[in-house]
Amino acid sequence: MEKVKVGVIGLGRLGMVHMEHLVTQIGEADVKAVFALDQAQLDYVKQNFGVATYTDYKALIDNEDIDAVFIVTPTGLHPEMTVYALNAGKHVFCEKPVGLRLDEGVREMERAVNDHPELTFQLGFMRRYDASYKQAKELVQAGKIGDIIYIRAYGIDPISGMESFTKFATDNDSGGVFVDMCIHDIDLIRWFTGLEPVETWSLGNTIAAPHLERIGEFETGVATLRFANGMVATLIGGRHAAHGSHVELEIMGSHGWIRVAQEPEKNFVTLFTDAGVVRPCMQGFPERFMQAFLDEKKDFIKRVQEKKQGSITMEDGIRALVIADACKESAATGKLVNI
Ligand code: NAD
Repeated sequence: MEKVKVGVIGLGRLGMVHMEHLVTQIGEADVKAVFALDQAQLDYVKQNFGVATYTDYKALIDNEDIDAVFIVTPTGLHPEMTVYALNAGKHVFCEKPVGLRLDEGVREMERAVNDHPELTFQLGFMRRYDASYKQAKELVQAGKIGDIIYIRAYGIDPISGMESFTKFATDNDSGGVFVDMCIHDIDLIRWFTGLEPVETWSLGNTIAAPHLERIGEFETGVATLRFANGMVATLIGGRHAAHGSHVELEIMGSHGWIRVAQEPEKNFVTLFTDAGVVRPCMQGFPERFMQAFLDEKKDFIKRVQEKKQGSITMEDGIRALVIADACKESAATGKLVNI
């Protein structure tokens, strides 16, 4: 099969990971061009990978030598960039979330996806490609833990990432802790259970990082979700874990529990000293989900070659955004919000 000619739009914390994977590890992709506003990012890619660079994303998309684009820019730009790319006849892999709010271009983005069934669209909820979550889903679906009663999920970035997050959320609207962080676990819960929440009560604070209040961010957000069958989920998103990147999930069923990554261990090393027994921890999301990031892109490229739709759809993105937005509204108003 012919290689898929690719452009990468956005070369920041995650865009650079996607770009390097595509160039070095995905043989079926041929990276032709990259876009960023940051000249240092463009220079790095030009020098190390010899790829054409753009500071105008539309010019990159209009390049006839591009079949597919990866959109890895700040979230508020996902709708306009996706619409432009699809209307120009390009396949789109778009990072999560689909956008910041439904009424800020997301409905137009949905229309463009629906108007172009001939083009592959896939959303970057990469946790669905993680081996542990895939096994957890299989166990749930095989009935190994019975009926699900409760799900608890932690998604907490390390304190060491606070500076880069503060810059990201100052330069752009991140969406806030529910739309930016908890949305991953919202997607996983929908994927594991096939159920949609009907109500949320959510809260947030900035105790661990008061400076975030000035840019309208909660450092920690806690969402309680109630589902129509009575199932309950608690999601905790945050940016303050002292030990590392803490991503943990527990599914409690009538006949057993599943826990994924109860401690974010980096590897098999344990250090025994007079300070005690220490297990090194993962320090960032790229480390925890490196294989999932790689596998989602391999699958997307294969789907483009086979003229198939993406595995994670626009509808998945919209449903997750509606839930995350309801959590945000609840935390802002202090009220129980119907979803
Ligand atoms: P970043 O700020 O590190 O990088 C953003 C990139 O977009 C940079 O190359 C920058 O030059 C470019 N850019 C910035 N402002 C722009 C503008 N106004 N117009 C055009 N380009 C602009 O961002 P990031 O942390 O890499 O996040 C990018 C996206 O990826 C976000 O939507 C985020 O939610 C998502 N993300 C997903 C995951 C995941 O786990 N799947 C992890 C991190 C980020």
